[in-house]
Amino acid sequence: MTAAYQQLYINGQWISPHSDSQIRVVNPANGELYATVPSANTDDIDAAIHAAKAAFPRWSATPAKYRADLINTIADGMQARKDELIDAIIHSMGCPAALADELQVQGSIDAFRSFASLTQHMDDTDTHDNFITMKEAVGVCVLINPWNYPLSQLVGKLGPALAAGCTAILKPAEQTPVQDLILADIIHQAGVPAGVVNVLTAVGADVGEYLCSHKDVDMVSFTGSTLAGVKVAQAAAPGVKRVCQELGGKSPYIIAPGADLAAAVRYGVEDVMINAGQTCCALTRMLVPATELETVERIAAEAASEWRPGNPKEQQTMMGPLSSHAQQARVKHYIEQGIKEGARMICGGEPLDDSLLDGAYVAPTIFSDVTNDMTIAREEIFGPVLCIMPYDTLEEAIAIANDTPYGLSSGVYGKDTDEAKQIARHIRAGQCYIQGALFNTDAPFGGYKQSGNGREWGLSGLHEYTETKALII
Ligand code: NAD
Repeated sequence: MTAAYQQLYINGQWISPHSDSQIRVVNPANGELYATVPSANTDDIDAAIHAAKAAFPRWSATPAKYRADLINTIADGMQARKDELIDAIIHSMGCPAALADELQVQGSIDAFRSFASLTQHMDDTDTHDNFITMKEAVGVCVLINPWNYPLSQLVGKLGPALAAGCTAILKPAEQTPVQDLILADIIHQAGVPAGVVNVLTAVGADVGEYLCSHKDVDMVSFTGSTLAGVKVAQAAAPGVKRVCQELGGKSPYIIAPGADLAAAVRYGVEDVMINAGQTCCALTRMLVPATELETVERIAAEAASEWRPGNPKEQQTMMGPLSSHAQQARVKHYIEQGIKEGARMICGGEPLDDSLLDGAYVAPTIFSDVTNDMTIAREEIFGPVLCIMPYDTLEEAIAIANDTPYGLSSGVYGKDTDEAKQIARHIRAGQCYIQGALFNTDAPFGGYKQSGNGREWGLSGLHEYTETKALII
């Protein structure tokens, strides 16, 4: 049965929107309508920003301990309603149940709690000869998220915003709005003061400019495509707002000569195939010694065969559909482009079970002999597609790794950690995963070059939501 959400969460209340327009949320596993949510217009935006502005003076002046306790109470509420959150993510973006549980929801709850403990840093001061520095909240923040890790990205913005003492307007992606509406209810039950958090479900392309240029907004934190990120920055520029952009990536992964190939290649395949390849920091360009190409291809194809697409509701499914049929068409187009430009497909295109034919599925696909001028090596595909690229020398590998407009993430698997750390220092990217390391929500995350500005997560993430004040004595 379709879930019909009728209201927006503004100023501590559920409010009917000013327009009748609705957003249809389609389940990509079968093409069926999963939910409808209101499509907020500029009057709703005005109301939300007005509420956030009015709430800011009191909220930002609350003791850090009070905000930390509230963040933990929200995390308790998320834990209690974990099944609803998981359900929303499975049905709106097709994420497999086990992954939705562990990574998308439980990981987000744990990360939210980590911002409760970071809140104490808002009391830190730094004393110098005749001045003291301190941190204060930026103000009213617009938090715009994409659909690929909808709850985790929300937490990566809302956690530090609340910890810092900012007030917020949440704008989820139109494909995945439901977890934000559940969270609004959790926030309400937790007793967060009216106006501190407001949730607007809306079409970004329609209202984005209005939202990001609004005179009463102090900061916009955006995660999504580079194209929309540029538009956000342009809209925010005349008002000189703080803009944090977490954008796309085409991240390199260097496997150095002498590395444990079985472990290194399996790690690389998993990194790309998880979440059906819809991970902004996925290590999609695997650079391998040319002399090892054949062995790498064999290990990679074998590892990819474990990622057979299946019904996301089943616990054993590792790969669900892509998040929409539009995304499926986009990824298939890139695969055709790869074939046309001469890349060698070593797996992909396998027939799907009949039961999956209505879904937005794409089989795990690996290309080898990819050169860095090919479209599939330059553009973000955002699907389960890995490019294997042979190199002759490590210098050449580093040059290929850096030959990209992006700089979000990277990886190195060396013969040992010391060698991998040394290679990592030459790569222009915000993160580098060494010897098969895993994502850590305490580590700063963000891009060089066209992958963005600013950092999320951990203490750096908290500081994005602060101004520095100096008291000169
Ligand atoms: P998208 O840019 O189309 O949409 C992202 C969000 O921006 C949505 O909420 C959308 O409604 C909104 N939006 C769209 N146009 C807007 C505008 N003009 N003004 C304001 N908001 C607007 O991206 P997507 O297709 O949903 O997400 C995929 C992209 O996100 C990929 O490029 C991926 O790399 C990137 N991403 C980056 C990170 C990161 O942390 N760097 C994380 C996840 C996804």
